[in-house]
Amino acid sequence: MAIRVLDKNTAEQIAAGEVIENPASVVKELVENALDAGSTRIEVEISGGGKSAIIVTDNGQGISAPEVSLAFQRFATSKLSILDDLYNLSSLGFRGEALPSIAAVARVSLTTRTEGSISGSQIILAGGEILKKEEVGAPPGTRVTVKNLFYNTPGRLKFLRADAAETARISALLSEFALANPGVAFNLTSGKRKLFSSSGDGILLHAIGSVYGNNTAESMLEVNFRDRASGCNIAGYTSAPHLTRSSRRWITLIVNGRLIKNQMITNALERGYGDYLPRQRHPLTVLHLLTPPQTIDVNVHPTKVEIRFQEPELIRTLIYRAVKLTLQSSDQLSGWPQNTIKEAHDNVITSGQGTGWKESTYFGQPIHFEPDYSQIREACAEPGETWLYSESVSDGDCKLLGQYLHSYLVVQKNDDLLLIDQHAAHERIIYQQLLNIEQSTTSQQDFQLTIPQTIDLPAAWRSKMPALLPLLNKFGFDLEPIGDDSYIIRAVPFVLSKETGSAQLNDILEMLFAALGDMTTDYREAILKTISCQRAVKAKQPLTRPEMEKLLSDWQKTPRAQYCPHGRPTVISFNRTQLEKSFNRKGS
Ligand code: ADP
Ligand code: MG
Repeated sequence: MAIRVLDKNTAEQIAAGEVIENPASVVKELVENALDAGSTRIEVEISGGGKSAIIVTDNGQGISAPEVSLAFQRFATSKLSILDDLYNLSSLGFRGEALPSIAAVARVSLTTRTEGSISGSQIILAGGEILKKEEVGAPPGTRVTVKNLFYNTPGRLKFLRADAAETARISALLSEFALANPGVAFNLTSGKRKLFSSSGDGILLHAIGSVYGNNTAESMLEVNFRDRASGCNIAGYTSAPHLTRSSRRWITLIVNGRLIKNQMITNALERGYGDYLPRQRHPLTVLHLLTPPQTIDVNVHPTKVEIRFQEPELIRTLIYRAVKLTLQSSDQLSGWPQNTIKEAHDNVITSGQGTGWKESTYFGQPIHFEPDYSQIREACAEPGETWLYSESVSDGDCKLLGQYLHSYLVVQKNDDLLLIDQHAAHERIIYQQLLNIEQSTTSQQDFQLTIPQTIDLPAAWRSKMPALLPLLNKFGFDLEPIGDDSYIIRAVPFVLSKETGSAQLNDILEMLFAALGDMTTDYREAILKTISCQRAVKAKQPLTRPEMEKLLSDWQKTPRAQYCPHGRPTVISFNRTQLEKSFNRKGS
């Protein structure tokens, strides 16, 4: 094939792909520009998840009239002139790629005025071409309007998610910006809906409050650590040991004002907690690391979320020490003896992780329903699966022998040996119970919480809640909004514990939102599966004999018991002949 040079338009569209993947990346670039321009107020308005329109308005220094078209030229930047500057960077943007990239794949207009000039200028572009440039009246600052993103690259358009999902992505991004820039007031609206706002009063704890809610902010410990020798400074907040989350999504790292992702820092941070942090739990953290600019390289990746440290070992040690000291001094302050904290942890593990059979109301509150045998037979009709429930199911057939690896029930069924995956089996049991609730018209199976709880959700979820609330209600959650992101929980589904706390609800919602991230998910299914998974006994969890007996008997009564709701088998079996063959025995 002949080699050709790509025409200008095609080349620019390809280059744009490195920086502009979705509406959120447009917002990211525009907000970074606004921040670089010294803005103290940044307003983001979107419609159609940002696909139809994104408008970012700032009160920064603006662009002078002669430079307006230059801003849309590739590699045009006011932030970097010689290569050496790259190593002394304090601004967020520097490649001069964002505006031309956005203009290559959307219809863009930019209106701007610098403080000193009498009039402003406006430039309009589509598909990378300048259509119009004129003098206009405008307030000081810059407003960029981006419409019909990817209108000329339909291939890209196809990869965008549903409006709600793109909106959520933008919402999460704005939350992160607010945490990174407490001195800037951010505002996000979608259509007429206000999705997020921060005060910009410069107080990090207030920014944390606007993102995660004030209750959460109040449970954070202040981190403040300076290392004279290296000139590094670590400041921010990290959660007290009782406040943990099921994923690392709640850890925000900012290095010299730049939001970054860094596994090494996250690991060091969590190691700083030592055994204060329950297994598979993660803290909620906002850490600002200030380091001399020449000790980091931000030019690793076009989106600039990855950075390289000159001395990673030093950073790792500092983070570890900063967190460890914070926790130690908070111990002294509150006068908790070590073991009380440990106990507090154990509580978190049992109540938070859904591992607590003992407190789980499931055992205390047997549910009565008729097993649907026709369904069972149907499930067994698959080839090779006929050994189980071939005729009828009765408790008597199965004999519990014990627990293997604290994960599998060992069961004898007639002459067969069964290994039942306790988590998968329990998941199916709960799932079927939930289906039953859904079909029953009465909702009396909800539990009124002894003490109604208040829960603060991250502002980033605001756009998703309206769709989710009626469904959550249907499954027995009684959630009443009492503010933009705060809810009172009065009741939970009966499969949850009466002592369900806001932490558990938060975990459930987080799992749900993760599942709902992709638009093909069916909300109802996702809720059912998430609650089942959350409440099911976990692998590697020791069970008492009565607990195992109960699990086994419920499992036997449950329709479609051979598979968990995700489709994995709950049981494998060995028959006597197979086993005897393996032992080189002749069948008797
Ligand atoms: P970069 O940010 O990497 O320099 P961009 O393409 O994002 O490249 O922007 C090009 C130039 O346009 C910037 O260097 C800056 O001078 C100017 N600019 C862009 N957005 C703004 C804004 N909101 N306020 C002031 N100047 C801006
Ligand atoms: Mg930029």
